[in-house]
Amino acid sequence: SAKDEGGNCFRFFQSVMTSKMTRRIKLEQELRQALNSSGQLMLFFQPKVALASGQVTGVEALLRWHHPEEGMLSPVEFIPIAEDSGLIQELGDWVIVQSLWQLREWQRQDIFVEMAINVSVKQLLRGNLSDRITSLVEQMEIEPRYVQLEVTESHIMDNMNRIMQQLQTLAKAGFSLAIDDFGTGHSSLARLRDLPFKVLKIDRSFVSNALKESKDQQLVAAIIDIGHSMNKSVIAEGIETIEQQLLLQSLGCDEGQGYLYSRPRPAKQLLGLLQQGKIELNVDVSANDRG
Ligand code: C2E
Ligand code: MG
Ligand code: MG
Ligand code: MG
Repeated sequence: SAKDEGGNCFRFFQSVMTSKMTRRIKLEQELRQALNSSGQLMLFFQPKVALASGQVTGVEALLRWHHPEEGMLSPVEFIPIAEDSGLIQELGDWVIVQSLWQLREWQRQDIFVEMAINVSVKQLLRGNLSDRITSLVEQMEIEPRYVQLEVTESHIMDNMNRIMQQLQTLAKAGFSLAIDDFGTGHSSLARLRDLPFKVLKIDRSFVSNALKESKDQQLVAAIIDIGHSMNKSVIAEGIETIEQQLLLQSLGCDEGQGYLYSRPRPAKQLLGLLQQGKIELNVDVSANDRG
């Protein structure tokens, strides 16, 4: 009967929910273990390039988890689990320590680039991030201006009043702050002007649609102009083709990042590029990097 079918449907729904929750709980436990064992968590780095000169200005640290059974897991899958369970504090601290350690290693080899670190708004809400990172850079003798913290736009705006103080303390201490995935949130222009962010990072979705949709192209142009009118630097993420690069260059975008230049890689594999310090932008560089 229809009633039985409804019951089956509910049980099916229930079992899908249960298996999703079971997986979450399992991953949370395993992530906790990964933090206490060595080798499962690692950082990859992706270069950022000045679009006028090809100079490599910095790298972004991107977390990777090599799960013992499931292989490489995406941060898109496990960062939300870490945020919901509170593990993000320990995980975020691990990321900061490792990326600063790498930055110092490069500086010892005479490579001076900016290190961009993704920070969850949960780390800012906790209220001790600026103290923690300030004491780390002091210990490691790193100048704060080499450290950029990226925070996602939508999370900033939802928690504005509660994180303002942390943001101001960090900016005052000399760290540079970037708004990540810009365009996907809902910033008010007045707030944007008053916030201590130095950099706007245009979300990848607009970059990939800019050549297909004239509306997206206009939006990218507007973000660049608004950023510049507020004295902010603008970086585009997710540049995959030379056509996208040419468009962004013509719109005056300051920096770019994407597979066209390099995928995120382990530090060792980037050493050559960092020593060279520059990417040739006027040729089709896509041969550099496929796969
Ligand atoms: P995000 O900070 O916006 O990082 C950019 C993402 O785009 C990265 O994905 C990067 O690998 C990818 N990407 C870069 N260039 C291209 C391109 O040309 N094409 C395409 N299709 N993708 C490109 P990833 O590494 O999977 O990271 C995803 C997100 O996870 C990050 O987005 C960030 O929000 C978060 N995340 C990564 N590492 C950390 C971390 O250490 N802490 C925190 N809190 N979040 C992190
Ligand atoms: Mg980022
Ligand atoms: Mg981003
Ligand atoms: Mg993004």
